[in-house]
Amino acid sequence: MAGARGAGREGEPPPAPDPLPRPALDSHCHFDLMDVPVANAVAAAKAVGIDRMVTVGVDVETSRWQVATAQEHDGVYAAVAVHPNEAPNAGEADWAEIEKLASHPKVVAVGETGLDHYRTRDDGWRRQEESFRRHIDIAKRAGKAVMIHDRDAHDDVMRVLDSEGAPERVVFHCFSGDESFARRCADRGYVMSFAGNITFKNAADLRAAASIAPAGLILVETDAPFLTPMPYRGRPNAPYLVPLTVAALAEIRGEDVAAVADAVTATAARTFAWT
Ligand SMILES: [Zn+2]
Ligand SMILES: [Zn+2]
Repeated sequence: MAGARGAGREGEPPPAPDPLPRPALDSHCHFDLMDVPVANAVAAAKAVGIDRMVTVGVDVETSRWQVATAQEHDGVYAAVAVHPNEAPNAGEADWAEIEKLASHPKVVAVGETGLDHYRTRDDGWRRQEESFRRHIDIAKRAGKAVMIHDRDAHDDVMRVLDSEGAPERVVFHCFSGDESFARRCADRGYVMSFAGNITFKNAADLRAAASIAPAGLILVETDAPFLTPMPYRGRPNAPYLVPLTVAALAEIRGEDVAAVADAVTATAARTFAWT
């Protein structure tokens, strides 16, 4: 559903926001799903201060594509995995391929992996959990962050991380918990990556989480082409729109835009170990 100003303009890219006063990044997007050439999307992002982007695979084929794309473009990095919703159909050969890709120098995370109890039901859950455990193991052996997709599965994601032993660096992409879940993540040093849905009307719990998350544990992302922030909800998302979410985070947290940009830049450097 489009926001008021999006009405009648579905499919049309939103205008570019003002450039950020300090550089920031997009910790999670899917270049393969966007309708624009990667070079254009990267240039548009850099023009507003988004100088690094992580493009994320959801199966072996798209993971390979993200690695090739990262290799071709300055400022683009990759994350590789079989997505939880694809996990019920994945097996040893897929995990072996993901493990190979994970060692590439431009791969900064193993993900998106985790649990999705919304789109996968009942008998898929066991396979999802097995795939999640395998990805945690790959992340640890590759020395990369694990990038978690957690939909309606907060307690089970924590249970698996606790029992498996979490890698040193854990990111919850498109963080969807409330204040108390944010505290549980903060206690364990897990990074919370906030997306454009923090601007949605019905997201009061998420904003409460964003307001108390420690500055050293916050990231920002688009999950583009999905989750376009207000007032452009329903129109195509891309990394050049990250400044809207940085501005929303700053307002929610009562901080300067520049301070939030610096905080996510520092968190990303630590989490993704890029130079
Ligand atoms: Zn996801
Ligand atoms: Zn995603």
